[in-house]
Amino acid sequence: MAVANAEVEVLIVGGGPVGLTARALLERWGVRVLLVEKHAELSPFPRSRLVNVRSMEICRQLGLADRIAAKAFGPEYGRVRFRDTLHDRGFATAAMVGVDAPVPESPVIGVVTSQDRLEPTLLAAADTEVRFGFELVGLAELCDGDTDYVPTAEPGHRMPHFWLAPGRSTLDALGAWFTLLTPDPTHWAQHTDARWPLRVETLPKEHADLCGIHPQGALLIRPDGHIGARWQDRPSTDGTLHQALASITCSAPS
Ligand SMILES: Cc1cc2nc3c(=O)[nH]c(=O)nc-3n(C[C@H](O)[C@H](O)[C@H](O)COP(=O)(O)OP(=O)(O)OC[C@H]3O[C@@H](n4cnc5c(N)ncnc54)[C@H](O)[C@@H]3O)c2cc1C
Repeated sequence: MAVANAEVEVLIVGGGPVGLTARALLERWGVRVLLVEKHAELSPFPRSRLVNVRSMEICRQLGLADRIAAKAFGPEYGRVRFRDTLHDRGFATAAMVGVDAPVPESPVIGVVTSQDRLEPTLLAAADTEVRFGFELVGLAELCDGDTDYVPTAEPGHRMPHFWLAPGRSTLDALGAWFTLLTPDPTHWAQHTDARWPLRVETLPKEHADLCGIHPQGALLIRPDGHIGARWQDRPSTDGTLHQALASITCSAPS
């Protein structure tokens, strides 16, 4: 499922085994999700060496157990070797629990595999958008500035808006921005050269009447479809639209 022009319910930060598995499970449960990973690609390093029994059960739930097992190493690589010093010969070896030794209660066995083998399989397990090269650098809550910004009613009081990097937010990642609905776009032309991409659409008079919007008023529609601000008439100052956008996105007015 592509995430576009939609409010995501969960933002996953990090494309390691945990983030990739969470993404696949959430997609399966119908949750709208966006994963951001600061690196340009999956990690090329082997790192962890084992998918244990319980993890394999979750992977089985996702239909991945056979694919992961097919890319695994032989079970002999999953043995722990015991010795007193580095120079000693090993006096015992033991298989890791559940590796090459079925657990009676489980339909799967754990496998020896490295992270660079596992992660591509987890990534391919879902269609939901993944944004590589996006780093979450902070979280911001909506703040009401000194404007006539009117927070929308429930649901969606707060717009899901996070700064991923200076100048790049989840809105950029979603490719979605604001729409100004007004009965007369010409009156708003000088307001709309904002640094925020903004579509201006004509609001038919009969609809404007229903919303109580006068001919020179406007509605600012957020990317998630909720009303972010409402001007019954043309605002008294030219910067009002900019201030409202800055307030909604918690960024500095231009
Ligand atoms: C050198 C090394 C060897 C290891 N060897 C073993 C081993 O032999 N056996 C074993 O079981 N485990 C091993 N591990 C541990 C194993 O790699 C971790 O337990 C596992 O990767 C944890 O998975 P994770 O998804 O929680 O986190 P990670 O795999 O670390 O994934 C987190 C991801 O989040 C991304 N990220 C972080 N901050 C942000 C941000 N602000 N915005 C966007 N993205 C962000 C990171 O780039 C990373 O890709 C090893 C780890 C290392 C480093």
